[in-house]
Amino acid sequence: MSLNIVVLAKQVPDTRNVGKDAMKEDGTINRAALPAIFNPEDLNALEQALRLKDANPGSTVTMLTMGLPRAAEIIREAMYRGADSGIVLTDRALGGADTLATSYSLAQAAKKIGNFDIILGGRQAIDGDTAQVGPQIAEKLGIPQVTYAEEILELKDGYVVVKRRLENGVETVKAPLPCVVTVNGSAAECRPRNAMRLQKYKYAASPSEQATLSDTRKELLTKRPFLNISEWNAAFVEADPQQIGLAGSPTKVKSIENVVFTAKENLTIDGDNDDQIDNLMKELIANHTIG
Ligand SMILES: Cc1cc2nc3c(=O)[nH]c(=O)nc-3n(C[C@H](O)[C@H](O)[C@H](O)COP(=O)(O)OP(=O)(O)OC[C@H]3O[C@@H](n4cnc5c(N)ncnc54)[C@H](O)[C@@H]3O)c2cc1C
Repeated sequence: MSLNIVVLAKQVPDTRNVGKDAMKEDGTINRAALPAIFNPEDLNALEQALRLKDANPGSTVTMLTMGLPRAAEIIREAMYRGADSGIVLTDRALGGADTLATSYSLAQAAKKIGNFDIILGGRQAIDGDTAQVGPQIAEKLGIPQVTYAEEILELKDGYVVVKRRLENGVETVKAPLPCVVTVNGSAAECRPRNAMRLQKYKYAASPSEQATLSDTRKELLTKRPFLNISEWNAAFVEADPQQIGLAGSPTKVKSIENVVFTAKENLTIDGDNDDQIDNLMKELIANHTIG
């Protein structure tokens, strides 16, 4: 049985390596100072997709990302590991989207891809951290969802059987296809890049990237259509302008506060008795260092 598998992936600032330049003076993220990476749990989702592809010859894995044109970088990364193709959903009109507008836009793109058997994504993105996008896409598409997935145990006869990792144990559920599955970081790590695939896909490029390429490289993309990373805009996925970007985002950020932690030099423990430790704890709680 060949499957049409879609994997959601988000390019995120590497919030695990935050340096002193990470925030701008106005309190917003200085994206230029943070390397952009493949959202970690989306790599776990990709591995589950590639395992399904391995087990079902003839299947295809299509990457779908919404972001800036540079998000084509993570599509190439996925191709090096086993994905077949990818789409960057990018448009100025999509900017400023909250999770509702993001999931609407991605659901529209999924409809445009059409005929998919399963959509896999990460449980959550390390920058937004809401874990809302996967479930919202399922709602908007009117299909079942399985969250906290750790392993896809079986996929046959129109059903998928998934092991879910919950706080206090493991649950095995069966869901009809098509469905959305969001995968935990506790799932199997994604396989590394494959050297042959790296050679095959290293010149893959999106239309935005192609604009800056030499004629020889452009010719290569014409001769080898599999090197073309698709770029779709809001109109192409027939998105309602009122449901995308800022217009479609009911969540409004009212203010952003930059919290700077500074060391207080005169905070010392002089002695080791319980009272002194108690006093230190009270002081740390009072000045919001902990608690
Ligand atoms: C008012 C408001 C304004 C915002 N404005 C901006 C802005 O201008 N620019 C900006 O970058 N962000 C903006 N955001 C953040 C944006 O809403 C989130 O980045 C986005 O909705 C995804 O939410 P999340 O990161 O919590 O993803 P989660 O729900 O935690 O992600 C779960 C999974 O869904 C999939 N997924 C999530 N996002 C994408 C994506 N873009 N493409 C493909 N798959 C995805 C991934 O598989 C991911 O692992 C704004 C948020 C709000 C509330």
